[in-house]
Amino acid sequence: MELNRKLNMGMVGGGPGAFIGDVHRKASRLDGGIELVAGAFDINPRKSKQMGRELGLNPRRVYGTYEQMVERELKLPESERIDFVSVTTPNNWHFPIARDFLEAGFHVMCEKPMTFNVKEAKDLQKLVKKSRRVFGLMHNYTGYPMVKLARDLARGGELGKIRKIVVQYPQGWLSTPLERTGQMQAAWRTDPKQSGGAGCMGDIGTHAENLSEYITGLKITHLCADLTTFVKGRRLDDDGNCLLRFNNGARGVLHASQISIGEENNLAIWIYGEEKALEWHQEHPNYLYVRVPDGPVQVWCRGNDYVGATSPAAGRATRLPSGHPEAFFEAFANNYCNFADTVRARLTRTKPAPLALDFPNVKDGLRGMLFIETVLASTKSKQKWTAFRK
Ligand code: NAD
Repeated sequence: MELNRKLNMGMVGGGPGAFIGDVHRKASRLDGGIELVAGAFDINPRKSKQMGRELGLNPRRVYGTYEQMVERELKLPESERIDFVSVTTPNNWHFPIARDFLEAGFHVMCEKPMTFNVKEAKDLQKLVKKSRRVFGLMHNYTGYPMVKLARDLARGGELGKIRKIVVQYPQGWLSTPLERTGQMQAAWRTDPKQSGGAGCMGDIGTHAENLSEYITGLKITHLCADLTTFVKGRRLDDDGNCLLRFNNGARGVLHASQISIGEENNLAIWIYGEEKALEWHQEHPNYLYVRVPDGPVQVWCRGNDYVGATSPAAGRATRLPSGHPEAFFEAFANNYCNFADTVRARLTRTKPAPLALDFPNVKDGLRGMLFIETVLASTKSKQKWTAFRK
C-alpha cells in the first residue's frame, strides 16, 4: 500500500524571530514529501497567529497553544490532520509537548537536548515504546553524508580498534552577557528554568557527545568534567572540558565553549584507531580526512561515486554532485527524509527500508540527558571519574 499524499506536518515553536523552527520548516520541504499545515508557533498566541499569516497557513490550523492544537487536530478527519509534530521550543517544553502529542497518537520530531532531565527522558522512552509512534531527535550533525561515511568506516573496522576520540564544539557568541540585552536565543539558554541544569554543555556539548557515539558506535562510560561560568552573573556554565572513557577502553577529550572568542560553530572530531585515523569539521563538512601511519592524508570528497559505494547511507544523504557544497539545511533534511520514510512505513503498515531507520531517536536522547547529568555530577565531585547512571 502506498501513501498517495504528502505527510502533514505540525510545528510547536518557531515563532517570529526564532532560529531553529525556521530551519526545520525549510529543511522538511526540501524533498517535497512533507507539508507544514498547522502550528502553535510562539509562547505568545498573538505571535503564533502572526507567524501563521506569514507562512500563508489556513488560520483555522494556527493555534494559540499546543494544547489547543492537540485537541483540535484530533477532531479533523485522519487524512487532513497532522501526521507528526516538530517540537522546536526551548528545552523545558520538549517533554510535555512530545508527551501530549504521542499520547494523542501523533509521531514526533523533537529538538535536542531531548528533555529537561533524565527522569523525563526515561518517561519519554517508555511512552514512545507504548505509543508505537515514531520519535526522531534532531541531532542534525548525524545527517551529514561525510559523518555517515565516517560512521561506516569506523564501525566497519577500517581504523582498527579505536583508541582515542577528540571532539570539540567551541563558539564565541556568549563571551559577553548578551542575555542582558534581551537577545532571545541567549536569554533562555542562560536561564536554568528553561535550559536545564547545564548551559553550554547541554546546548552544544550534547552534540559533541552524540557525534562521538554515532560515528564510533561506542558508549561513554565515565567522565571527568570541569565546567566554568566565565561571564559574571550568568547562572549556567559557558565553558566545559571533559575527559572521557569509552566502553571498549578508548579514551577521549570533549570540550565545548560559548566564550571562545572568534569561534563560530567549530564542531570537529578526530578518531584515532590502531591502524588509521579520521577527522571531520562541521565548518567544512564536505570533506572527510583519513590518516594512515606512513602515507599522505586521504581527502574523501562528498558527492563522488566512491563515497556512496563505500557508504550507501552517505550516498542516500547526497543531493548535489561533488563540488557543489551541501551543509546545514541538507543535514536537517536528511534526518527528515529518513524520519518521514519511517512514518510513511508506519502509516502504510509496511517495513521501512533499513537505511530509513538511520536517524537519532529516543535512545540517543536519553544518552544526551545522561551525559548532562554525569557532567554536572562530575563537576561537583572530588572524585576523578564519575560513571554514567544505568
Ligand atoms: P528560539 O528562542 O529562537 O525560538 C524558540 C521559539 O519557541 C520561540 O518562537 C518561542 O516563542 C517558542 N515557544 C516557547 N515556548 C513555547 C510554547 N510553549 N509553545 C509554542 N511555542 C513556544 O530558540 P532556538 O534557538 O530556535 O532553539 C529552540 C530549540 O532548538 C532548543 O531546544 C535548542 O536547543 C534547539 N536547537 C537546536 C539546534 C540544532 O542544531 N539542532 C540549533 C539551535 C537550537
